[in-house]
Amino acid sequence: MHTMITHRKAAVVAITMVSFLGLASAQQPQVDLVAVARIREEGLQRSRVMDTVSYMTDVLGARLTLSEDMKRAQVWLKAEMERVGLVNTAIEPFMDYGVTWDNEYVSLHMLTPDYQPMVGFPLTHTPGTGGKLTARAAIVDLQTKQDLATYRGTLKGLAVLVTPPVAIDVAALAQGVPRRTEDELQKLEDTVITPPRVAPRVVPTPDLLKAEEKMAFYKAEGVSVVLQCESGWIGAVRGFARPGTKDDKWSREKTLASPPIVAVTPEHYNRMYRIVKRDIPVTIEVEVRNRVGEAVEQAANVIGEIPGTDLKDEVVMVGAHFDTWHASPNASDNTSGVAVALEAARILKAIGARPRRTIRVAFWAGEEQGLHGSREYVLKHFGNPKDAKTGVTPQYEKFSVYFNQDYGAGQFRGIALQGNEQARQIFTAWMAPFHDFGMRTVAIQSLGSTDHVSFDNVGLPGFQFIQDRIPGTGGHTNLDFFDTLQAEDLMKNAVVMASFAYHAAMADARMPRKTQK
Ligand SMILES: [Zn+2]
Repeated sequence: MHTMITHRKAAVVAITMVSFLGLASAQQPQVDLVAVARIREEGLQRSRVMDTVSYMTDVLGARLTLSEDMKRAQVWLKAEMERVGLVNTAIEPFMDYGVTWDNEYVSLHMLTPDYQPMVGFPLTHTPGTGGKLTARAAIVDLQTKQDLATYRGTLKGLAVLVTPPVAIDVAALAQGVPRRTEDELQKLEDTVITPPRVAPRVVPTPDLLKAEEKMAFYKAEGVSVVLQCESGWIGAVRGFARPGTKDDKWSREKTLASPPIVAVTPEHYNRMYRIVKRDIPVTIEVEVRNRVGEAVEQAANVIGEIPGTDLKDEVVMVGAHFDTWHASPNASDNTSGVAVALEAARILKAIGARPRRTIRVAFWAGEEQGLHGSREYVLKHFGNPKDAKTGVTPQYEKFSVYFNQDYGAGQFRGIALQGNEQARQIFTAWMAPFHDFGMRTVAIQSLGSTDHVSFDNVGLPGFQFIQDRIPGTGGHTNLDFFDTLQAEDLMKNAVVMASFAYHAAMADARMPRKTQK
């Protein structure tokens, strides 16, 4: 049997500093080095993280929010959370989202003037081609309302190339992306005054057609398929959702009313484009099969807990988004983050940790479409003090902190404070046992674009780690597979996340909150 890890107040000499303003007193944050040692042993010597992430990437694969793939994967995830010992697990719906959408088959070829198998993926929430089609490729440069007349009646049955050819940055290909240098981390830490955010100026352009207006025109004109390319990397397809999905809420009707839209890898797209420019006919063959759900369904997060003891009503959370884009298993974005948070929970269970506060693990959905899962969860469970109508729930005060992972699969090198100065000395102390990992940077900056923002936005402490970048990963592309993941990075990340969650759950006080504007 493991002996229970206790909160050792005597382990660290606490230095009490009384603020000269007399507003508050702060204790030196405590680090339980026995707990850290056990977490390190379990996470670095008996790690399960690569096995977990291999199952998720290899067997489960891509997990678009509210796809049949995602629903299957969430059932597996809930069972896996129970297997590592989490309780109160739930697949918790958060909103009426839209209809399910799954890509089941893609086949894309250039037939003439030379045979070339091509790589492409449909945008989500587009229809299939309704069988195998052969079509001539044509360049279309449709920008303004005036351009509509030029193309009207000329596009029937064509495969239209609707984006300009994409430049490949050969120099960037050769260099790869280095890990963060000491200089770079130092610069982050030295930026003690965060520069104000300048919102980009939007110039109104009434004559420019919106992407969804262009697609409606192509459909009305009877094109066979829309081909496009956004990626500047050889081999990489970047393709997201059909234009307009945010407004039409992933609707079946709008999906079926769209032309098939396929994003193509740049080298294949550019080749077709150059041949057409020579006035030599290009013929392609394409077949796409997509499954579109019949009825609007709810999207869901997956939740589980390690129950607390004397402070069990108070909550510490860790999490990561489980949803991905659809063209690969998205090993780095964010399957690795899910594996790390799950492994952190497994480590804590394996060492017999008995946290004072409840540690809740959350695997979000809808992140890639705009943080929907975490935002709805936060509003439902904690509320929003800035919203006079809803206010906050009793759980709002009992919440301590949320730690997120979603900046790729690179190693944690520090943490961003999101402007919360009171968290500085706490994180500095909690990171001290991980200096040998290269984890030592505390920066006042705010990181954005992922699920901790949903907490931060309502005044709850939510943090994202500063991470290394790993060369060769292609988040949001068809190239994001298990093969680029680095075992040591993920093992270390799980250890750090476990230790941060544990210390937050054991601390005398909940995580201090920054002053609200
Ligand atoms: Zn992500």
